[in-house]
Amino acid sequence: MIILDNHFHVDPNHGLFLEAVKQFQRAGGTHLIVVYKTAHDYGFPGLKAEDFMKAMDFHIELVEKINRETQVKAYAVVGVHPAEFDYLARNKGLEFARNEVMKALEYAQKLCLEGKAVGIGEVGRPHYEVPQQIWEVSIEIMKYAMELAKDADCAVQLHTESFNEEKFRELGEYIREVGIKPYKVVKHFSPPLVNVAKEVGVFPSIIASKKNIEEAIKQGNRFLMETDYIDDKRRPGAVLGPKTVPKRTKEFLQRGIFTEEDVYKIHVENPKKVYGIEI
Ligand SMILES: [Zn+2]
Repeated sequence: MIILDNHFHVDPNHGLFLEAVKQFQRAGGTHLIVVYKTAHDYGFPGLKAEDFMKAMDFHIELVEKINRETQVKAYAVVGVHPAEFDYLARNKGLEFARNEVMKALEYAQKLCLEGKAVGIGEVGRPHYEVPQQIWEVSIEIMKYAMELAKDADCAVQLHTESFNEEKFRELGEYIREVGIKPYKVVKHFSPPLVNVAKEVGVFPSIIASKKNIEEAIKQGNRFLMETDYIDDKRRPGAVLGPKTVPKRTKEFLQRGIFTEEDVYKIHVENPKKVYGIEI
């Protein structure tokens, strides 16, 4: 059985790295979308475009290592986290931060075009209160990332504040404005609003808690599953553990909450559609 976690971080400096991947695999996991963390986590200062680019290269190397040294097939998603933009804007000014982050995102697009990554992310806007100007430029950068993804025909994974129906509709407007394909924009850490997401042209990646997935599948199987595992010993229990997606999937199949068809759709067909990957 193929089981994919759509939002998984690895951090050799602060976490378990390959051991976390092996835990995922032992629980029945087969495929991972491994999302860039931050330049800072990877040991780079995060103060200019080159720092982010080096951190992205480092991230690609981690993904290659997973593919070499484990049986899990891993794919990279690279970008600049909205909190990194916020930090840079506060330290070096808004204009400087905007330019550096945009330059770095162009590099992320290049990595997608070269086939080293399957998407740009996580990009978006901070999940905490920020000054209005930082908020507005974050949205501008988010749209720019969508444009880059559109031109490269790759996916984009969005990090945002906590979402509801109204916010999905706002995002839907940006998607129409940019003209990116509706299934290329992934809302990471999505609530189980499967129908609304479909309507506005967003692909929801839903946190694999019991409650969320139970609610999601009532609305259909057009979604991805994720843990947002952060691989950081400094923050134990901050998010779901590496085994959650395979465990939840098998349990739901056994209990008849998922059909075989649902599992195939969620873990094979949906990722294929979003990332263009052959699983
Ligand atoms: Zn994340």
